[in-house]
Amino acid sequence: MLLPHHKPLSAADAADISAPSSAAVEFRRVDKYFGPHQVIHKVDFSVASGEVVAICGPSGSGKSTLIRLINQLEVLSGGEILVDGQPTSRLKGKALRRLRTHIGFVFQQFNLYAHLSALENVSLALTRVHSWPNEKARQKAALLLQRVGLADKAGHYPAQLSGGQQQRVAIARALVTDPSLILFDEPTSALDPEMIGEVLQVMQELAHSGITMIVVTHEMSFAREIADRVVFMDGGAILEQADPERFFTAPQHPRAQRFLQKVL
Ligand code: ADP
Ligand code: MG
Repeated sequence: MLLPHHKPLSAADAADISAPSSAAVEFRRVDKYFGPHQVIHKVDFSVASGEVVAICGPSGSGKSTLIRLINQLEVLSGGEILVDGQPTSRLKGKALRRLRTHIGFVFQQFNLYAHLSALENVSLALTRVHSWPNEKARQKAALLLQRVGLADKAGHYPAQLSGGQQQRVAIARALVTDPSLILFDEPTSALDPEMIGEVLQVMQELAHSGITMIVVTHEMSFAREIADRVVFMDGGAILEQADPERFFTAPQHPRAQRFLQKVL
């Protein structure tokens, strides 16, 4: 089904953008400015629990900003974002830290700590943020490294790992606090082509685990085969949302059609 990018608002909606929501994530008329430049325009967008959403669109269209707003790596300028039904825009201090541990984030550039081993990168949030005892944290981190196929690399430092291995460590790290939602920002864009498959494989397994996933990606094969829904952005707005088959075979918006002609 093709959804309009701006839902019509009733007077009641307009009065209360903080009303409860049953979605895992819900954007309500979200605006984001960088200085005078508006880069996200009144976005309404919602993701159901357990859903896997792929976000695609040209460079500069606002994809990274959109997902960074969810865990407040960027602070919104207007509207509201609800996570598990709770408004998040006013959270501070401990409540904001709690929100963030509830949301995993995987970056294009891995962002591992160079001076820590793979195991220590994964266990860090448990010991630092959640005050787990060292041994318990290491055991959980080892399980997660096993899950991403890196049980034998626990003692390696990032510089001793390939890009694909580093990104799998980053995924294990994002999962260590048992988030119910994980955000990926072009997780394979910095990888050599031969390493993309091993990362997509881990993401595919994750997609079947029931976790909610929002994935900004240029990997159209992932969007088509793994995602439940594809969201197309341009100019800071969502121009089209559809199930993957429909999006790739019969895109409706002219800009989506042009984009697909270039990337497919
Ligand atoms: P995408 O991820 O789709 O390539 P971004 O969300 O990174 O797009 O960027 C959207 C727009 O916001 C672009 O015009 C970009 O230049 C601008 N932008 C992103 N981050 C910042 C920032 N920290 N300061 C100023 N402008 C930014
Ligand atoms: Mg980006």
